[in-house]
Amino acid sequence: MKIAGQVSLSDLPRICPLLCRAGRPEYGEAGTRVVEVRGVRFGGDRPVVIGGPCAVESQEQTFSVARGVRSAGADMLRGGAYKPRTSPHDFQGTGLEGLRILAEARQETGLPVVTEAMDTRQVEQVAEFADMIQIGSRNMQNYPLLAEAGRAGKPVLLKRGMAASLVEWLGAAEYIAEQGNLDIVLCERGIKAFAGGEYSRYVLDLNVIPAVRAHTFLPVIVDPSHATGVATMVEPASRAALEFGSQGLIIEVADFACGQPRCDAAQAIGPETLEHIVRFARERMESCIEGERVA
Ligand code: PEP
Ligand code: MN
Repeated sequence: MKIAGQVSLSDLPRICPLLCRAGRPEYGEAGTRVVEVRGVRFGGDRPVVIGGPCAVESQEQTFSVARGVRSAGADMLRGGAYKPRTSPHDFQGTGLEGLRILAEARQETGLPVVTEAMDTRQVEQVAEFADMIQIGSRNMQNYPLLAEAGRAGKPVLLKRGMAASLVEWLGAAEYIAEQGNLDIVLCERGIKAFAGGEYSRYVLDLNVIPAVRAHTFLPVIVDPSHATGVATMVEPASRAALEFGSQGLIIEVADFACGQPRCDAAQAIGPETLEHIVRFARERMESCIEGERVA
């Protein structure tokens, strides 16, 4: 018996006609839309690696991490200027000043920038400074924010709500698409499950990656940093995500020489570990291309 209001994957053509494969037969069963961010291609022929601090704290800290991210060979810079924190008494980010620092770090390193907008009132400002607007897990179902981000004229990185089903996640993406913006990249970042919190921050739902790819043509990436919350798990989780078909990674990086990060220190890796991950992503991709040529 179907309970009123309950939705399942079979409802996708009704809930997201713009984004589900059934609605866009030109993408076929496996084709991906390439989402381009200043020349970086999500869903192209190689995984995209994004690295950077959890929060933009200062120019010195951001520049130092950004240089490490570039030297590691990553493609893009992340960093929160506006931070969603559990407590209002915790560091809330550096706001507009943080956005300016990110734009300077882009100029310094050449890396395109993704950063979060938490509120409709921040969207225009974030779009002015950043190359891609991030919608965080806590805001995945903030429908006015999704619509505003969809209208901002920049690609959107849509993180999965920590307790959202696949249908709810794709339904959220549809709000962005409905504004005429199909430049959306999905990001699995760990979900709440019975084991989460005991030995890791969340539970990395690797199983959702092939499901996303089966149901939509949008590219999907993984955030192993928030999903695990444990620095030593970030590299193995990154490898596993790529094995499951993730088309990229977004990873928190710190330069501990600049001091302890003010948020999420336990999950931050150094640039040397990021370099291993980038190398793995590139090598794996080369073997994929090789495999296709042989086949
Ligand atoms: C982040 O990436 O900075 C972040 C806050 O992540 P999430 O929204 O997935 O918790
Ligand atoms: Mn963080």
